[in-house]
Amino acid sequence: MPIRSLFPDLEPLLPRVSKPIQYVGGELNSRVKDWDCVAVHWALMYPDAYEVGLPNQGVQILYEVLNERVDALAERTYAVWPDLEALMRENGIGQFTVDAHRPVAAFDLLGVSFATELGYTNLLTALDLAGIPLHAADRDESHPIVVAGGHAAFNPEPIADFVDAAVLGDGEQAVGVLTDLVRDWKQDGRPGGRDGLLVRFAATGGSYVPRFYDVDYLPDGRIAAVRPNRPEVPERAVKHTVMDLDRWPYPKAPLVPLAETVHERMSVEIFRGCTRGCRFCQAGMITRPVRERSIDTIGSMVEQGLRATGFGEVGLLSLSSADHSEIGELAKQLADRYEDDKVSLSLPSTRVDAFNIELANEFSRSGRRSGLTFAPEGGSERLRRVINKMVSKDDLIRTVSTAYAQGWRQVKLYFMCGLPTETDEDVLEIAAMSHDVIRAGREATGSRDIRCTVSIGGFVPKPHTPFQWAAMADPETIDRRLRRLREAINADRSLGRNVGMRYHDGQPSLIEGLLSRGDRRVGAVIEQVWRDGGRFDGWSEHFSYARWVGACASVLRGVDLAWFTTRERDADEVLPWDHLDSGLDKQWLWDDWQDALGEFEQDDCRWTPCFDCGVCSNLGTDIQIGPTGRPLLPVLPR
Ligand code: SF4
Repeated sequence: MPIRSLFPDLEPLLPRVSKPIQYVGGELNSRVKDWDCVAVHWALMYPDAYEVGLPNQGVQILYEVLNERVDALAERTYAVWPDLEALMRENGIGQFTVDAHRPVAAFDLLGVSFATELGYTNLLTALDLAGIPLHAADRDESHPIVVAGGHAAFNPEPIADFVDAAVLGDGEQAVGVLTDLVRDWKQDGRPGGRDGLLVRFAATGGSYVPRFYDVDYLPDGRIAAVRPNRPEVPERAVKHTVMDLDRWPYPKAPLVPLAETVHERMSVEIFRGCTRGCRFCQAGMITRPVRERSIDTIGSMVEQGLRATGFGEVGLLSLSSADHSEIGELAKQLADRYEDDKVSLSLPSTRVDAFNIELANEFSRSGRRSGLTFAPEGGSERLRRVINKMVSKDDLIRTVSTAYAQGWRQVKLYFMCGLPTETDEDVLEIAAMSHDVIRAGREATGSRDIRCTVSIGGFVPKPHTPFQWAAMADPETIDRRLRRLREAINADRSLGRNVGMRYHDGQPSLIEGLLSRGDRRVGAVIEQVWRDGGRFDGWSEHFSYARWVGACASVLRGVDLAWFTTRERDADEVLPWDHLDSGLDKQWLWDDWQDALGEFEQDDCRWTPCFDCGVCSNLGTDIQIGPTGRPLLPVLPR
């Protein structure tokens, strides 16, 4: 049956809302397929505003992969701002896709990509606007299957009540598996109804269906055990790993946004995974092993993507892009090729060493020489040993001196506050470091016009990392340390006035910590916050700490906000995500946590022998790094 577009109802409301263009769709490279010609319909959601959601690589990849199938279609939906939400409620308009403005409720699946847990309340808004029951248990066959993905899905327990399934890891192949299952189940006459389909999902071992697992608690509030409650369901759900990125060169034709977005460039992922072993970094841990894309594929993707979009900037993405084994050759060849076209190239994550300045120089050949960002993360040498960020202050000063000497005028340094074992003194060392950076820059250039920005984020311990057992610092401690740091930076006016300081206060981090390491009991908190008006919690102007604290106090019993956040866990505690397999051995993570407390560093397995984190042996994989021996960038006709 054809599905009616909601656009005729929506259009008259658009002049009354902010940035109406974000709801219109029709971007270059967007697709609208015939509803009746395919068996499986996916709505893909990024649970934030269009300006943040549109550039998301994960959604763009799945959108293309699914739309290339003859038996499926995919459309996108984003969180609507509160002004439109109010009008949609007033006028009875449901959550819609931006591609064909079809109602999300009509799709077979709603796939939601969570880069951060602060998007959870936006999921509830979308479900409610769509007319989909908030609780998975209340849905029937007429409702879409709600599937969570993205990094936050590695602990989906806080949203276990609201999602039907969660998929861990790489999505390219996983969405194909789910599409096949839905298509076959529909063709078979929907045996077993909604539960029948979810059993098929869970039985693959690659989809976690929370309702098929029971959680028992100990009298002290900790989890006693999580067990499957059906025989077909495995003890643990395993993450998906795409082993040959060259076979999945997506996105081929990235979407070109209509409205302003946070990134307006073409992004090519040059490798996936990271083995540097920064102990706070969930992305680095859960995306192992390292898998490089070959430089000929990268070259083709850049060429094809630029033709398809007309973008003037290309970002070479990964968790530590300078670690690609052929990055030097890649940088030189891309810079040679695009110098005349004024296409600028960027490498978002920059390591602290001279080689990276060379790379940055190559990349800036055809564009602006604006700023360089380095991430020492911890203020003191001791703290950097704790977090396994092997950067010395001397390295940093040497590197920034080189950068300033070669014409870079702005350096940004990124740190975290609230790290395990951190003291006020560790944080205050950031002030001394920033002063030394300004001194070094003045010496290298002979100019006083040197800028350095110190940017500080709150540390949030994440599941599947060595810091998953750590206690968070309370927001008052974080705020006091940051106040003292500001005073220390400004104590020397001649240096301090050239140092900018940007930071967030500690409260949003604490709530992110609750949502990251929470269990199923946190679902009631999310729902209460949402009922109290919580929306767009990742935006400081919408976030309300009082609302979260109030909801915790009113719905949690026997445990509280501090229990979930500022409490250190023991070795024997069952963690809410222990039944979700990221490939990492829990014992290895624990040993690495003990090494952190002992201030011992762990090498990178790219360059040293395997230290047996478990990923390769558990998942039957291996790191894949070059050089590949493949030809370099193909010369394509212009
Ligand atoms: S198993 Fe060994 S080689 Fe594989 S990611 Fe872990 S440490 Fe590296």
